[in-house]
Amino acid sequence: MRAHHDPKEAAHGGRLTVDLGAIAENWRRLGARAPGIPCAAVVKADAYGCGLGPVASALWTAGCRTFFVAHLGEGIAARAVLPEAAIYVLNGLCPGSAAACREHALRPVLGSEEELREWAGFAHGAHPAALHVDTGMNRLGLSVEEGLAFAGHAVIREAGIDLLMSHLVSAERPDEAVNARQLADFARLREGFPGVPASLANSSGVFLGAGAHHDLLRPGYALFGGNPTPGRENPMRSVVRLEAPILQVRTVEAGTSVGYNGLWTAPGRRRLATLSLGYADGYPRSASNRGRALVGGVSCPILGLISMDLVILDVTDAPEAARGVPATLIGDDLGVDAVGRAAGTIGYEVLTSLGSRYVRDYIG
Ligand SMILES: *Cc1c(COP(=O)(O)O)cnc(C)c1O
Repeated sequence: MRAHHDPKEAAHGGRLTVDLGAIAENWRRLGARAPGIPCAAVVKADAYGCGLGPVASALWTAGCRTFFVAHLGEGIAARAVLPEAAIYVLNGLCPGSAAACREHALRPVLGSEEELREWAGFAHGAHPAALHVDTGMNRLGLSVEEGLAFAGHAVIREAGIDLLMSHLVSAERPDEAVNARQLADFARLREGFPGVPASLANSSGVFLGAGAHHDLLRPGYALFGGNPTPGRENPMRSVVRLEAPILQVRTVEAGTSVGYNGLWTAPGRRRLATLSLGYADGYPRSASNRGRALVGGVSCPILGLISMDLVILDVTDAPEAARGVPATLIGDDLGVDAVGRAAGTIGYEVLTSLGSRYVRDYIG
């Protein structure tokens, strides 16, 4: 068992290890689901909390050539590490952002007639962009009918449209009827734009079969180890490991309550361990009294309310628990999906909340 005796380690609480080799392997695995179809990478929100710079470089080295971010600022940051990649900005053309998009060779994902016309007037066909058509989210994008109304229209060429896009509502629930409706609507839309490549599949969409694949896969979550097939075995390699050292171990008697507001009371004699990690690090406070951590491979419940900088564990069944021993909060049998469930949220939010307070290690 590795203990935290290195003074540099002791200066911090949680340690986040991001396996870049696993991200590259997940990208290859997703691509292998659709032979011959290129696989892009969605790296919005600081690459789902894993760190845009190292993640984007690793994916480029693995062969990924197309990237998606949400904001213009994320696109500018991505451009700095990806001088030659195609980078699309999902949130589109915010007012006043066209010049910056062009300067950094970013491709806005145009989601309204206003955006389409603005970019066409600005780009004169010389700067590519994507056209986003809404097939069910009712969030961003033209309706299918609005999109078809532009079929063969000069504005499509002037706006440099080189990708048609839509986004799936419930791809992680393959039995939902909305999937078939969206696939059919997207196929109908494509007919109006012969020769323009199209992209529909997010992580779970990749697993919906060939009808969802089109010309470019667009996964995010699964690259980072999230399960794109909930309820079935996770086909992805785990990417993120979060550990924090035990600061103290104590034994308490029945009736002793712990933490703020004494929310948990010992039903008998218990051994408790206090970890150097809390909600200020990015670990969800909503996992209070519900989440778990592994100590020497033993699953230990989180007790009471999670504090800003500390978490209390029941280590009665974990004989290896001792001062300086690391507990695992994400990793091994505790994947991001399980942590999300314990916190009443989804693994996506667990990843994108990964804090800047953790010492970060990149491996692979
Ligand atoms: C976030 C996002 C994706 C990636 O979705 P995952 O479920 O993380 O794979 C793809 N397309 C759009 C438009 C998105 O917003």
